[in-house]
Amino acid sequence: MSRADVHARGRSRPVTARAPAKVNLLLQSGPRRADGYHELLTVFQALSLADDVTAAPAPEWGVSVEAAPRAAAPGEHSTGPALVDLSGVPLDETNLALQAALLLARETGAGSPVHLTIRKGVPVAGGMAGGSADAAAALVACDALWGTGLALDDLAELGAELGSDVPFAVHGRTAVGTGRGERLVPVLTSATWAWVLVPAGHELSTPKVYAEFDALVAAGRVQAGAEPGERLRAVEAALRAGDPRALGAALGNDLEAAACSLAPALTETLAAGRAAGAVGAIVSGSGPTVALLTESTRHARTVAERLRAQGRRALTAVAPAPGAHVLEPVLAS
Ligand code: ATP
Repeated sequence: MSRADVHARGRSRPVTARAPAKVNLLLQSGPRRADGYHELLTVFQALSLADDVTAAPAPEWGVSVEAAPRAAAPGEHSTGPALVDLSGVPLDETNLALQAALLLARETGAGSPVHLTIRKGVPVAGGMAGGSADAAAALVACDALWGTGLALDDLAELGAELGSDVPFAVHGRTAVGTGRGERLVPVLTSATWAWVLVPAGHELSTPKVYAEFDALVAAGRVQAGAEPGERLRAVEAALRAGDPRALGAALGNDLEAAACSLAPALTETLAAGRAAGAVGAIVSGSGPTVALLTESTRHARTVAERLRAQGRRALTAVAPAPGAHVLEPVLAS
């Protein structure tokens, strides 16, 4: 495609794209590989909790961040403006959304500078891949703005250069991830799943959680990637059956012991979630957000209310949500 074609297909108005947060229904980690990464077997599920990224033509490249308005996505109920602390989001070229825009521009030769505005609904450094969601949304928004017309698979492949969770944020829904989590196969599930997310009041660094995992494995206190086939089959069967109790029992996260060792209050949050009626409780990814599976959206509201009555923050979300997509403006009639 020539540069002229690309510009002819692009848009002159700002484009907004939405990309979902994720929970890992199953996260099994093998030992550290020679390249420093861990071989993963994971099942991702995309949540209605999401970030929006607007790409607007600008004189120079830039990025800014603001809190998403409350209840920005269907099924999402936030508990207040302090839910997402924006202070951990970098506003320089290390921002994943800006990196994604620059990468797409470099790869296609199509991009002229944009200012990206991120509206965050996903807790920062919470183990829900908010930064990856921003990268995926920026790729999709800039692709539409510039008219580069790349296939979703191509955008996902580009995204994998920025982070292991970006391809899933591009595709969304429910998928098995292998490798570093970037090789995806969709999983069939007909049900709607109702989640309660309990964000911690602090961040937990993913590299530190993996280092603690390595230490626990070396000390023989955690087994790396035990019974992979069996645990995956249990998750897939529960997803197919649409059975929340079976899925709750099959949830598993090899990083949970490491996250709880670094942030002991998580053990208490998991217990509080179960006591509030959740059918499954898990640390999301590397934490520190705790994800609670419930039986219905109504049940999720009840569980969330019980936790809020104890002074905890809690929000509800439904899944599976679509991957990164453009939000078309509502045209005035
Ligand atoms: P990871 O993807 O590393 O597991 P996470 O899901 O726990 O991370 P993120 O919200 O993605 O959490 O943030 C991880 C770190 O990424 C942040 O502490 C921040 O320094 C960096 N980061 C870069 N760009 C962004 C962005 N657009 N939004 C949030 N964090 C970003």
